[in-house]
Amino acid sequence: MMDAKTDFRFTTKTKPNPDTEIVHGSRCIDWIGGAPRGYGLFRVENRCVPAHRYLYEAIHGPVRRDQVIRHLCNRPSCVNPDHLAVGSHQDNADDREAAGRTYCKLDDRAVTTIVGRALLGHTQKAIATDYGVVPSEVAHIINGRRRANALDPELDRELAKAPPAR
Ligand SMILES: [Zn+2]
Repeated sequence: MMDAKTDFRFTTKTKPNPDTEIVHGSRCIDWIGGAPRGYGLFRVENRCVPAHRYLYEAIHGPVRRDQVIRHLCNRPSCVNPDHLAVGSHQDNADDREAAGRTYCKLDDRAVTTIVGRALLGHTQKAIATDYGVVPSEVAHIINGRRRANALDPELDRELAKAPPAR
């Protein structure tokens, strides 16, 4: 849960955006802190968590690991609580498709599997062959996950324990 100090720190990294559409009665509140890949990251207790997930859980309580926090406004940088809703990974993929912003032909599950296999010592070449992509894309996914402390807190913990990739 957020204490007053954390609450203040979070708030200083947000800014209402008057140029956005009204969704559920209000406009977007943008995350102006770090946001690799468009999703805001908030550092708390020495780790980075997705800002919108952090906020949603602070308000509504813990969200199951197999669920994602969706942006009803389709703006990943938004942290307006009224624009966040819990959903499945499939909902999120559907949202992205609907918004025409599918950024990768590999879905979230594939990305998680790829990172997991890399941790198990599978070569990037072998993984790439299985997924029909080039090894550099696999490297990009693995490094991206690591760098972004990406959208999967449980995986982050595994990565933190794991030896360097390759
Ligand atoms: Zn929004």
